[in-house]
Amino acid sequence: MMSQNFLSTLTGSFAQPAMENPTGVVMEAAFKHHQLNWRYINCEIAPASLKEAAAGAKAMQWRGFNCSIPHKINIIEHLDGLGQSAKIIGAVNTVINNNGKLIGENTDGRGFVESIKDTIDPADKHIVLFGAGGAARAVAVELALAGAKQLTIVNRSIEKAQGLCDLIEQHTSAAASPVAWENTYSIPSTTHLVINATSIGLYPDVDATLDIDTTSITSNMVVADGIFNPPQTQLIQSANANGCKTVPGIGMLVQQGAIAFEYWTGIKPNIEVMEKALREALEIAD
Ligand code: NDP
Repeated sequence: MMSQNFLSTLTGSFAQPAMENPTGVVMEAAFKHHQLNWRYINCEIAPASLKEAAAGAKAMQWRGFNCSIPHKINIIEHLDGLGQSAKIIGAVNTVINNNGKLIGENTDGRGFVESIKDTIDPADKHIVLFGAGGAARAVAVELALAGAKQLTIVNRSIEKAQGLCDLIEQHTSAAASPVAWENTYSIPSTTHLVINATSIGLYPDVDATLDIDTTSITSNMVVADGIFNPPQTQLIQSANANGCKTVPGIGMLVQQGAIAFEYWTGIKPNIEVMEKALREALEIAD
């Protein structure tokens, strides 16, 4: 009789709230497609339980886990080491269990860079980035590491924009300047890439718009949005109407998951399978 293996390799996610997180569906579709006997367990973990959760994942020999709100920063003290960009960004969204050593990586920014790469190469580009929160930090650092020339960080809270600019100039060769977002912002005509990394436009506030002079978004610019639900945000719609090439946030979401998948399994996953599973899970038609 052939020996059988009923033991799955475990991965998962620690977040609070966890209920609306579709990553498990996406990962399990990829595990199935690649014929891996792996599981992804979506866990609701309160901040006070994070240490025990990390220890539990280690004890159960999980191969790794994702961290989402509110654990991306606090998980670091429970890890054994950090990858290069996670160290600069100061936040972790993917943990890899290397023989009992938990290593933190951040795939959000790399996922973003991957999602735009067929549309624009960030090297030597002038970029306007709205936001200075967790997603913006990851995106800005990876764009700078990918060779961006100049980043303008436009944010409501100027201290956070300044902090992000300092971080970029300290750790990368890109130039970065902060802008306090107090009035309607006009995109400089020399800009190659415009990115929304704020939470403006996220479902259910789908009609919320960035305070931008939309006539300053011209057809030579590429416009990307971190918001993935809905994929056709107000920003993406205006940019399309102005003749720009656009990159909706669903690409970033799929790509950051694909990089985590590859960290854990060593396999480059099929992106179409992951995107199809995500669109079905979120009931996104376009
Ligand atoms: P944070 O809470 O860390 O940051 C939110 C950012 O949005 C801050 O810069 C904040 O400005 C700004 N902001 C929020 N509301 C307003 C407003 N009304 N006017 C102006 N600025 C505003 O969140 P994250 O960075 O973690 O996430 C941001 C978005 O990115 C989320 O909507 C999330 O869905 C998306 N995201 C997408 C991913 C993907 O794979 N596609 C991955 C990760 C995140 P201030 O600093 O002044 O408060």
